[in-house]
Amino acid sequence: MKIIMLGAPGAGKGTQAKKIADKYQIPHISTGDIFRANIKEGTELGKKAKEYMDQGLLVPDSLTLDMVMDRFQNPDCARGYVLDGFPRTIPQAEALTKALKEKGESIDFAINVEVPDENIVSRMSGRRACLSCGATYHIVHIPTKKEGICDRCGNDLVLRDDDKAETVQKRLNVYHEQTQPLIQYYSDEKKLVEVDGTREMEAVFQDIVKILGA
Ligand code: AMP
Repeated sequence: MKIIMLGAPGAGKGTQAKKIADKYQIPHISTGDIFRANIKEGTELGKKAKEYMDQGLLVPDSLTLDMVMDRFQNPDCARGYVLDGFPRTIPQAEALTKALKEKGESIDFAINVEVPDENIVSRMSGRRACLSCGATYHIVHIPTKKEGICDRCGNDLVLRDDDKAETVQKRLNVYHEQTQPLIQYYSDEKKLVEVDGTREMEAVFQDIVKILGA
């Protein structure tokens, strides 16, 4: 099963992507996580990506596409994957469609997690991330057992630089300009399904399971 998660930053698509990956036993591929891992390791890609990410801008398509196409070579992708944060531009979507077509494949669903802009800023300022294992939480909606500590690996949680209020508005503008057109793209491809992301996390997941099949 090949799934794309669409939605504004902070719509909860990462949380849903992880749940889908667990349930359907497919890898969760988050381009944001891969960039952050590269930043942490101090790679050349990480250094380049950081310049854009810290400003709330998208990393250029050329860097992103090479990285994703490389990830698809991993044998764990044989049964499919759930893509979180990719594609984020029309050229990325076109490149993905083309790469799959060459293998006689296509994606199964593009799931748009819908949340209005006015909910996004407050959601993102409450978000906390573990930079060690990639887990994400929310101080109100997905609290940890112990405040500020990752349930999964015990490391400290942080408010990511790009989740700070001043960057969030910029990321939203970038989303509307460059990523939202993908909704029409996948609607035209007859792959689009929509879920109401304002509901409680588990209710949103159940809607997704209904679409994907148990
Ligand atoms: P995320 O964790 O998905 O919110 O991504 C964090 C940041 O990484 C974004 O604001 C972008 O700067 C960068 N990024 C992640 N995925 C992509 C992508 N597919 N194309 C370009 N930039 C990306």
